[in-house]
Amino acid sequence: MVRPHVGVYPGTFDPITNGHCDIIRRGVRIVDRLIIGVASNDTKGPLFSAEERIEIVREEIGHLDDGDRERIEVRPFDNLLMHFAQSVRASVILRGLRAVSDFEYEFQMAGMNARLNPEIETVFLMASDRYQFISSRFVKEIAALGGDVSHFVSPRVAARLVARFAPQRGRSRRRTAAAD
Ligand code: ADP
Repeated sequence: MVRPHVGVYPGTFDPITNGHCDIIRRGVRIVDRLIIGVASNDTKGPLFSAEERIEIVREEIGHLDDGDRERIEVRPFDNLLMHFAQSVRASVILRGLRAVSDFEYEFQMAGMNARLNPEIETVFLMASDRYQFISSRFVKEIAALGGDVSHFVSPRVAARLVARFAPQRGRSRRRTAAAD
């Protein structure tokens, strides 16, 4: 029996952007099953908790085409990526490459991971030109300052960001009014 090709797409997804979704849609076409690994350790001090990030990613997957959706699974992981990949019997790790600035980090990570397990190959998908400038970090910065993020994330994620920053923005508006 031929073993199905399982791919893991790991990330922080804080929050998932249109760029991530593009990699997911393209990535699921090169494997039989795609597992989106949501890193639950919070070394990056995420805005959304691991549970929220997983829920948000699942919501986005729910809006993909049927054929893609049924081959995708979202799972948290807090161990070494290679151990996680082994535990789901993955043969491929998928990563997205945006710009030269991503390259050095990704190159090092792929090299170290290849040492840890040479059986699992890291495959890079070039970001599409429409999405290559999108990063979760800038999306959060824009949303924190009340900017429009609708070009970068789905309407669902945009609403989550507005809700997350609303109390903070309310406080700063009240402070400005009090100072006037
Ligand atoms: P990590 O903390 O692992 O970098 P991210 O959620 O920031 O997690 O990114 C996960 C993966 O998605 C990385 O490979 C990253 O390069 C890729 N990625 C992020 N944004 C985009 C984008 N706009 N287009 C293509 N790939 C992207």
